Amino acid sequence: MIVILKPETNESEIQNIVGELNAIGMDVQVNKGVECTVLGVLGNTYEVDADSISLNPCVDRVMRVSEPFKKANRKFHPDNTVIDVCGVKIGGKKLAVIAGPCSVESEQQITQIAKDVKAAGASLLRGGAFKPRTSPYSFQGMEFEGLDLLMEARAETGLPIVSEIMSPKHVERFNEEVDVIQVGARNMQNFDLLKELGHIRKPILLKRGLSSTIEEWLMSAEYIMAGGNENVILCERGIRTFETYTRNTLDISAIPAVKKLSHLPIIVDPSHATGMNWMVTPLAVAAIAAGADGIMLEVHNDPKNAKCDGAQSITPAEFETVMKQLKGVAEVAGRSL
Ligand code: PEP
Ligand code: MN
Repeated sequence: MIVILKPETNESEIQNIVGELNAIGMDVQVNKGVECTVLGVLGNTYEVDADSISLNPCVDRVMRVSEPFKKANRKFHPDNTVIDVCGVKIGGKKLAVIAGPCSVESEQQITQIAKDVKAAGASLLRGGAFKPRTSPYSFQGMEFEGLDLLMEARAETGLPIVSEIMSPKHVERFNEEVDVIQVGARNMQNFDLLKELGHIRKPILLKRGLSSTIEEWLMSAEYIMAGGNENVILCERGIRTFETYTRNTLDISAIPAVKKLSHLPIIVDPSHATGMNWMVTPLAVAAIAAGADGIMLEVHNDPKNAKCDGAQSITPAEFETVMKQLKGVAEVAGRSL
């Protein structure tokens, strides 16, 4: 961290600030220039409140030179993190493919989709049981009954299951019942929920918030990791921009950015990114080509009558075709499906 002092700051004021920084455990290098003095603050600056330092009347500006996240930071963990979900590795050479409906709707629906996506090569099954809907009048999900049906589909197919949590009250039950707990875009900054998820060891799929920066997203990962749960998988799912043609704008640049900044695996959800089923294939291809560790696709056996997100859902037959297309791209990207 760098603290730039105002030009008129005198020696005793400099020593006061240095003393205050030393008192909170920081080492300080004092650099006296022609126009002003610059303090180089060394130590665990993650815990230093830059705003309170800038309140000192002698301080002109405070600049951070390192990212505010530590456990998620690649600087402190140069190797890629590979997360093991019941034997399925996320973040290694083999790409993870999470597929399934937006919402669990019936036993027949989830079990049939599970069998179909497994046959086409999916590695995990998704299905929402608690749904974060914009309207309170829309289908809210089958809740715990939905989780029961997902578990049945897991028993039938052997696919680990991914489902979204909405409330900190449900952490214990999700920890027992699902294999990856999804935190949706709308809850990316639900800090109480993130703290609770830090206390367990279950893998967490952390979606990027609707309008979150990459740094805010990594800080949310840091919340979970700071509590002791380092099993965080990031999911880029499109962000709000001025563009209205698509539901969101898929930020492909987030993939190399996250890879540079963090050691955590990143997957891409092209279904929520655009809201249109015909865009899923090209964007899944782009995601893999850009270095994503996997994809999450919404697959429904009857998209027209889906209770949620039918327009962006592909059919099992289309999923099979996407998987075939992705095989070649994966190979070029040095990965496998
Ligand atoms: C979902 O995955 O079903 C979902 C609601 O996604 P998001 O949080 O990205 O909108
Ligand atoms: Mn959905």
